[in-house]
Amino acid sequence: RPVIVWLRRDLRLADHPALSAASALGPVIPLFIHDETVEAMGAAPKWRLAEGLCAYSAALKDAGSRLILRRGNALDVLKDVIRETGATAIYWQRVYDRDGIARDRKVKTILKDSGLDVQSFPGAVLFEPWDIATATGGPYKVFTPFWRALRGREVAPPLPSPVQLIAPAEWPRSERLEDWAMGEAMNRGAAIVAPYAVVGEVAARTRLDRFIAERLRRYADERDYPAVDATSGLSENLAWGEISARSVWQAGFAAHQDGMPGAEKFLSELAWRDFAWHLMYHFPDMDRANWRSDWDGFPWRDDNADAERWRRGLTGEPFVDAALREMFVTGRMHNRARMIAASYLTKHLLTDWRVGLKWFANCLTDWDPASNAMGWQWVAGSGPDAAPFFRIFNPETQASKFDSDGAYRAAYIAEGQANPPATAQAYFDAVPKSWHMSPDAPYPSPIVDLKTGRERALAAYRG
Ligand code: FAD
Repeated sequence: RPVIVWLRRDLRLADHPALSAASALGPVIPLFIHDETVEAMGAAPKWRLAEGLCAYSAALKDAGSRLILRRGNALDVLKDVIRETGATAIYWQRVYDRDGIARDRKVKTILKDSGLDVQSFPGAVLFEPWDIATATGGPYKVFTPFWRALRGREVAPPLPSPVQLIAPAEWPRSERLEDWAMGEAMNRGAAIVAPYAVVGEVAARTRLDRFIAERLRRYADERDYPAVDATSGLSENLAWGEISARSVWQAGFAAHQDGMPGAEKFLSELAWRDFAWHLMYHFPDMDRANWRSDWDGFPWRDDNADAERWRRGLTGEPFVDAALREMFVTGRMHNRARMIAASYLTKHLLTDWRVGLKWFANCLTDWDPASNAMGWQWVAGSGPDAAPFFRIFNPETQASKFDSDGAYRAAYIAEGQANPPATAQAYFDAVPKSWHMSPDAPYPSPIVDLKTGRERALAAYRG
């Protein structure tokens, strides 16, 4: 009797505890369900997920298996596939967001009640969110002690890929990925983002190995400079589970043990990802409500015309605009640029962090609900262990520090350049026609004077 492995954000063969457990039992049916959670995704993540599914499908084929695709409510689809195949067990890797947990609990209860073997497995993070706890048994709210606790524990070595994936006697029907048209909402043109995506498990592993060999040494010194290719780029692979956090940890840890500079910093950044899921699990509204409820009365502005200029990369602050344009063209945004762009929206434009969170969730190929929510609330000041509100990034000072030669701004802002590079030009090919943007138009003057914006934000904060 086959075991169904229900796949979500875990498109890999190696270090996949659910897949390993299933393959040890007998025939396996790898199943991906296009349910409401997929339907609700933003344009770029949905497109990137489809790319990941395509690569995963090919990898499963090479392993003698198949990826079965079905669309619908998860419980209904699972019941159908169980009926069609006679499967007696359903395994999956856990998720830790509120809606995902609620869905999985319901599915588990109902299927278990019908006598099926239903099991969920770890694998998405280094440690389960409940496995790391303070001395009093509660969740951590501050990163440094969380990091100390995590670092003090041994991360289990990643599991190898299953030796064999046995096919069921008969495959259930599968829908066609093309029919799902998951790139349809990419009004920026998937072709623009595509060259920047590094898709699939093999590519993710190569990316990790290259990073460790070529860039890790310089990581601590250069990771804050958006024009320098100094970081791993692995967030998109981690977001879709094309590589496990444990595999990344293992490689970074081995380098650390060899005395590689930068390795410890890299491991601590990876731990921020675990911290985000730790927070999301313990504070399930982190992506929708101020984590500190005393922020509920803050006079955030709802979506507004200035926010629309921010989305379009037309604030008149070149560092901020470069960041927003980078995201539109590549599906990525450098971490330093994310902080500057988010700070400008929530502070200089006094706009609700949820407006920015939503735009990032629409545009990032590495969209991760926990890291995105933690990042936004951290910058806005409303989150756990957040930057104090009065610490307001000045985009111009930040630019002179982290983009002193202007290379990052020049890479994404065509206006005023006689021969703009392809990346800056690509932005104008990417934006919807309805935005009426042209590289020949003059670069806009700033929405708000930086000093005035800062004082307005501070006055709101004091109020
Ligand atoms: P590296 O520097 O190579 O770091 C290695 C890994 O550590 C990353 O791949 C990532 O998994 C993890 N990591 C590093 N920095 C952070 C961080 N600050 N928070 C959590 N994990 C981290 N990251 C996402 O993966 N998805 C998001 O949707 C997302 N939204 C963000 C929104 C805002 C407002 C901010 C400030 C940050 C956000 N981040 C998000 C975190 C961070 O910007 C990215 O993880 C990082 O830029 C990815 O690049 P990299 O893989 O080259 O990172």
